[in-house]
Amino acid sequence: MNTKEKIIFVLLTCIALVATIALAATISFTFSPGSTQPHRSLKITIRPLSKLHRPVVILVSSDGFRFGYQFKTPTPNIHRLIDNGTEAITGLIPVFPTLTFPNHYSIATGLYPTFHGIVNNDFIDPSTGDVFNQGSFEPKWWLGEPIWETVVNQGLRAATFFWPGSEVHKSSWTCSLNYCRQYNGSIPFEERVDTVLQYLDLPHDEMPVFMTLYFGDPDRQGHQVGPDDPAITEAVARVDSMIGRLIQGLEKRGVFEDATIIMVGDHGMVGTCDKKLIFIDDLAPWIQILETWIRTYSPLLSIRPLAGVSPSDVVAKMMEGLRSGKVDYGMKLTVYLKEDLPSQFHYGASDRITPIVGIVEECYKVMQKTPIKEECGGAHGYDNTLFSMRSIFIGRGPQFSKGRKVPSFENIDIQCDYIDSKDTRSF
Ligand SMILES: [Zn+2]
Repeated sequence: MNTKEKIIFVLLTCIALVATIALAATISFTFSPGSTQPHRSLKITIRPLSKLHRPVVILVSSDGFRFGYQFKTPTPNIHRLIDNGTEAITGLIPVFPTLTFPNHYSIATGLYPTFHGIVNNDFIDPSTGDVFNQGSFEPKWWLGEPIWETVVNQGLRAATFFWPGSEVHKSSWTCSLNYCRQYNGSIPFEERVDTVLQYLDLPHDEMPVFMTLYFGDPDRQGHQVGPDDPAITEAVARVDSMIGRLIQGLEKRGVFEDATIIMVGDHGMVGTCDKKLIFIDDLAPWIQILETWIRTYSPLLSIRPLAGVSPSDVVAKMMEGLRSGKVDYGMKLTVYLKEDLPSQFHYGASDRITPIVGIVEECYKVMQKTPIKEECGGAHGYDNTLFSMRSIFIGRGPQFSKGRKVPSFENIDIQCDYIDSKDTRSF
């Protein structure tokens, strides 16, 4: 995508979210009607609403929905969205690291993890020694402004039926009982869909203008069996049936044409097997890396050496060992000082990121030592430019052109606070 196309497409995707706020809050936000080629013109057609009083966006995430899964089995409901909406034809590009929490929060904030603070699923704040994990809901961890906060700050309602970060109280967003759920993976998908649909039965001044819907599949199965197992096919079919349930509920209420559905995934998945393992203890002839230095092993190797140990020396000695030809699969792991990471990762300018970061090639795993039992399964978290890490983007609703295909783009572009002059991201 060239720069102009990219800016205009970002505008289109943003519009689905911003128009919700702007039009609903009656902020001046004018669109010129009449264009049939919005990717070549800033004139954008937005279909008028027929029943809803305000635009409504339902943001759906299917965790670990690797690009291509939509072709594993008939997915008539997902394809109904594709056929009637706009699709990233070669998938949605995740941010690095291609993990669940960093990516969901990037989608919600429009920021890279370095800037929104959720730099990994598990990390330490070196200034306090506090540990972040997936149950950490203190606002200090969660930087930036997620879209649900933007919505409520405009005096409108938002609702989340799960989304990483949505339980966190920020500004006017307090995760109130009726509009926000504490994560509980055992709640049936049907209940999640039906709850979101019931919001549309509320009086229009109580109706959320932005809602999230989260499914933990097919990520769950992907970790267990990898991306090519029949269990994935079943999980994809089930997610598709939930999209069908959502569409039918919207149709029953006469608002399917008015509502905007954005369906995404957070990252892809690859199989990990075939003894593709790299052991930290194999580096002992060059340097002894203590387990206590390592926060996460794989696919993102994050190392914070003890105070007084030079990270540069650690990197040099690790690389000497890895490139010696004497460490199994040593060539598949590259270790960097964080400031030397390739710029494409946009990863480094945060104290929460460890001084040393290792990037392992697709399908390989890093471990301290030989495991007692070898396990095959699936993983994500690798280089975000890998095709296997891509997920899907489909936008369908009054703001999206029917049957339109767009090139792949990064998931930070779904949100659009880039129009904010305070934005620090680079394009
Ligand atoms: Zn995930």
